[in-house]
Amino acid sequence: MDAPDGLNRDTRPLFFRLFIATWPDYAPPVPEGKEETALDRLWKEYGRSFREFDDLTLARWCSQTLGQLRGRAWRLSHPLVGALRLAAQQAHDRQVWQQRLVNMPPGYHQSPCCRAPLLPLLTRDVGTSGLVCLHCNETAVPPDQLPPESQKTLADWSGKYAPLHEVAHWDDTQRKRVPDYDAAFEEAAQKAEDLLAELATQHVGHLLESYPALIWEDQDECLEVRPEDIHP
Ligand SMILES: [Zn+2]
Repeated sequence: MDAPDGLNRDTRPLFFRLFIATWPDYAPPVPEGKEETALDRLWKEYGRSFREFDDLTLARWCSQTLGQLRGRAWRLSHPLVGALRLAAQQAHDRQVWQQRLVNMPPGYHQSPCCRAPLLPLLTRDVGTSGLVCLHCNETAVPPDQLPPESQKTLADWSGKYAPLHEVAHWDDTQRKRVPDYDAAFEEAAQKAEDLLAELATQHVGHLLESYPALIWEDQDECLEVRPEDIHP
């Protein structure tokens, strides 16, 4: 396995990272120096179906799908979640939830960021960024407004995860401090897999007591951890 080049550290905002991680369609204009890939084009093609929905159809589709997601935590990589994210972004762009075309799906509340139904996304940055809104990709729940019983455990979890993730972004000086960087990278990736599984098995359940449903980020593109590597 080739370790990624530390000089290519991903400094783009969180929302951007999440988009390109699993569905490059909604990456805002391809950043300078990065060419649109075949995968980018494929996801744009996927998103086209929702662009053809009229506002009412889109609102109904989103509402029904949110209802089906209720009561469970879902992997970010789940196809149903991928489809909802495509639709949710389209709904956000068209301000569909502000038009009140359909009722809020049962069990959901308005998110403070964009007033869409709150479906939080739990990422590895929860300690610093809180929970992210599926619709607008802004912070929906800041760290200090997480459920009190989860604040410390999630901050601790993030504190353990961050230094592992950093290994992928070590510069040359840092890499030279270890005898074998590839081995250090592999070890960090393995520990990250374990921590992501821990997130799914130990922490997500508590959050479900406060939110109708939840999405958790089941990958780490910088450490080359893929959804299929994580076994909760
Ligand atoms: Zn929002």
